[in-house]
Formats: sequence, structure tokens, C-alpha cells
Amino acid sequence: MAIRSVNPATGAVVAAFDALGDTEIEERLARASATFATYRRTTFAERAGWLRRAADLLDAERHEIAVIMTTEMGKTLRSAEAEAAKCAKGMRFYAEHAPAFLADEPLADPGTVGASRAFGRYLPLGVVLAVMPWNFPLWQVVRFAAPALMAGNVGLLKHASNVPQCALYLEDLFLRAGFPAGCFQTLLIGAGQVEGVLRDPRVAAATVTGSEPAGQAVASVCGQEIKKTVLELGGSDAYVVMPSADVERAAEVAVTARCQNNGQSCIAAKRFIVHDAVYDRFAELFVAGMAALRVGDPLDSGTDVGPLATEGGRQDIEELLADAVKQGASVLCGGATPDGPGWFFPPTVVGDITTQMRLHTEEAFGPLATLYRVPDIDAAISLANVTSFGLGSNAWTADPAEQEQFINELEAGAVFLNGMVTSHPELPFGGIRRSGYGRELSAVGIREFCNLKTVWAG
Ligand code: NAP
Repeated sequence: MAIRSVNPATGAVVAAFDALGDTEIEERLARASATFATYRRTTFAERAGWLRRAADLLDAERHEIAVIMTTEMGKTLRSAEAEAAKCAKGMRFYAEHAPAFLADEPLADPGTVGASRAFGRYLPLGVVLAVMPWNFPLWQVVRFAAPALMAGNVGLLKHASNVPQCALYLEDLFLRAGFPAGCFQTLLIGAGQVEGVLRDPRVAAATVTGSEPAGQAVASVCGQEIKKTVLELGGSDAYVVMPSADVERAAEVAVTARCQNNGQSCIAAKRFIVHDAVYDRFAELFVAGMAALRVGDPLDSGTDVGPLATEGGRQDIEELLADAVKQGASVLCGGATPDGPGWFFPPTVVGDITTQMRLHTEEAFGPLATLYRVPDIDAAISLANVTSFGLGSNAWTADPAEQEQFINELEAGAVFLNGMVTSHPELPFGGIRRSGYGRELSAVGIREFCNLKTVWAG
């Protein structure tokens, strides 16, 4: 895939870039490695100062970078600005909390291991390659970069090939904020060039946010090279509504949970599983809410849902829908791709899903929701767990016993009760099963790319 910005609202090519050649990649690897040797000796206070400066710059430039995000991948300008603000918050969070998260962990009674003192110390691993997706073109990167840089690692970014301007902005942002050159570099390279970088001995570890094939490819190489990986992959999150729930609120939030980011979020609720007792009411409200969303120019402040990011992404959604319809699914709203330029697709709800349909188990990466009716909580949980993914999950119920059952039995990296799944710097984020492994954010996230060194002193 060429490295270029194509406006998804019009199909027009906005900018195109040549992929780096071997010599340029080598220069950047050498710079990253040399920088790590000195950067690892900087103090938390120095790193925090640079990271806070990056947050301030990002706040000041929020509108400008949001326009670039919207023009590159189609998210509404409003949500792009919110994403930039969230990044600044995430940076400040790690600037403040990294020292405590990475403080030495002393053994209370070192005498039990025959030592005068014994403790664990979190030290950086080195150069970490981040392979990132286009859907949250700033946030996905920042949630890796902020903790990694605070820990003393240096970062290399291989961003998705359709968001090169965002990728270059991030490199420039960290540089202008004061981080030493080489701490955070963007590699404008295609997916086929990733393996060579991963195999380079100067690269210590990798993180991938993206699809299963991308995760498999990176983890395979890193497996051979014995390099640490964190994988944040796809999801097909369930959204369960039980009779005791506030059905009106559940239906309202469901619309946002499905259509946030034009439906292209790994943690978007994708399968809506509703108890028979409240199904009709929920379906009526949910379908009405989805149908009422305004689809259009993402730069327009009145727009709720912009275009899908790529032509191929829209085709995937169309094919999933066509397969379901062919096998008897009913389209409750939306479904028809509009004529005209851009890769628009309307918010769509599909009922009468059967187990043979691809939509039953595959991820729909666009504003396409499936609706299921279930007789009880056990049926709801077993349906929620039917996909091979396990990222987030939502359950709406006021019943404490049901809440406990959802917490314990939903196969996912997160369960949100009476609210939609969102990421917060304060909370661990990640999945199980084919959604990946490892965690980002919180104290756990910053420790993923650290060497927890055991220190024993006699
Ligand atoms: P993608 O095609 O996997 O791309 C993600 C990144 O991986 C891009 O930089 C891409 O580069 C690179 N890549 C693709 N194939 C690769 C390979 N064989 N070797 C090395 N790198 C490779 O995914 P996407 O279409 O951008 O994003 C959608 C997917 O990401 C969805 O499944 C979504 O659920 C998932 N996602 C997960 C999370 C999470 O936190 N769990 C968050 C967001 C998105 P090119 O662009 O050059 O191909």
C-alpha cells in the first residue's frame, strides 16, 4: 500500500510520500540506539518536563492537528479534537505518575533471602517498535509513547500507511517538546519492511495495535527473535441489556457505543444482546437512534458519522452485510451504500442473525450493529462469548448478582457495567484470546516494556 493521505470524504489524494529506503532506516535505527544509551540516564523530572511540554503544544495545536486527522481518516472534527485533548491528558497522567509506577519494590524482610537489602527495579528495555493503526491516529500512538518515554525507552513508530501526516506530526511534536532527537522517530515504511526492523538486534521489543494478521506477523518474528510483544488486536464486543436496566439510557448509549469513530473502534460495541422482556422497547429506541444520526462531511460540526477510512474498509462492511442478508437477516435501518464520492456507509442495524452468518463471529469495523434476543442471562453470556475475540464487554443490569456473573463470566479484557467501554489512562486496557495479550495504560502498561531487575545485596 502506498504511503499517502487520501481524504475519505472525497477520495482525493491529499499527500503522498516515498517509503524510507534501507539506508534511511539504518540511519534511524542507529540514531535510536545511540539515543537510548544516553536517554536512559535522564531523570524522571526531565522526561516529565518534556512530556508536559508536548501536552501543552498539543493543546495549543488541537484544532490544526484535528483537521489533519479528519482529512486523513474521516473521523468527525469534533471527535478528532477530543482525541487530541485525551492525548494531552494521557501525557500529563504519565508525567505525574510514572515515578510512583516505576518506584523500586523492596522486599520487606530481606533477611529471608539472606540479603541486607533486596528489591525490584524497573529499567527500560531499549528501542521499542510501535506498529499502529489509523483509527485513533494520535491516541493509539500516545498511549504507547507516553509511558514508554517516561520509562526511559525510545520509540520507533511504524504508523498505518494512510495516516502519514499524523505520524510525522507526532515525531515533530516530541522533538519540539524537547525530547532528544532519536527518542521518538517515525519510520515511513510499508508493512513489508517491518520484519527487517524487528529482526535488527538494536530493536528490543514491539507493540502492535491493529488486526489479527498484523499481530500474527509481528509476534511470529518476535517469537523467533525472543523479543517481548504486546498485541492490541480486534474485537467484537457484546453489549448485553437485562430487564432491570435503564432501557432508555442503554439504547441511547448503545448508539454512541456502536457509531463512535464512524463505527471503527476496536472497543465499539458490535453485538447487541437483549433480554426478551425488554427486547422490543430497546430495539425500537436503538433503531430510531441509529437512523437519526446525521451522516456527512466530517468537518461539519453537525455531522455525527463521517465516511469509513478506506474504500476497502467499506467493502468489507458491505460484504458482511450482504452475506447476512442472503442468509435471511433483516435490515432494521440503514444498509444502503449512498451514491456519490467518499466512502460513506449509513448506521445500520441487522436482526435475525444465525450462526452461519459471518456477521455472527467476525468483527464489523464500521457502523453496523447486530441485534439478538435472548431468554436469560446464561444465554446472553454464552452468546457474548461466541466470538474468538475478547476485548471489552458491556452489561446493563441493576441486579448485583447478575453484575457479579457478568464480571466473572464474560470472556474479555474488560467489562463495563451500565456504561460503554472506553479507555482511561488510569485503567488497564487490553484483551484476551484473539484480541491479543498484554496491557496498556495504568501502572501495568508502563511496566510492559521494562526489565524488572531483581537486586540482591549481601
Ligand atoms: P491493520 O491492517 O492490521 O494495520 C495496523 C498496522 O499494522 C498498520 O500500521 C499496518 O501497516 C500494519 N500491518 C499490517 N499488516 C502487517 C504485517 N503483516 N506486518 C507488519 N505490519 C503490518 O489494521 P487496521 O485496518 O489499520 O485497523 C483495524 C484493526 O485494528 C481492527 O481489527 C481493530 O479492531 C484493530 N484495533 C485494535 C485496537 C486495540 O486496542 N485492541 C485498537 C484499534 C484498532 P500498513 O498500513 O502499512 O498496512
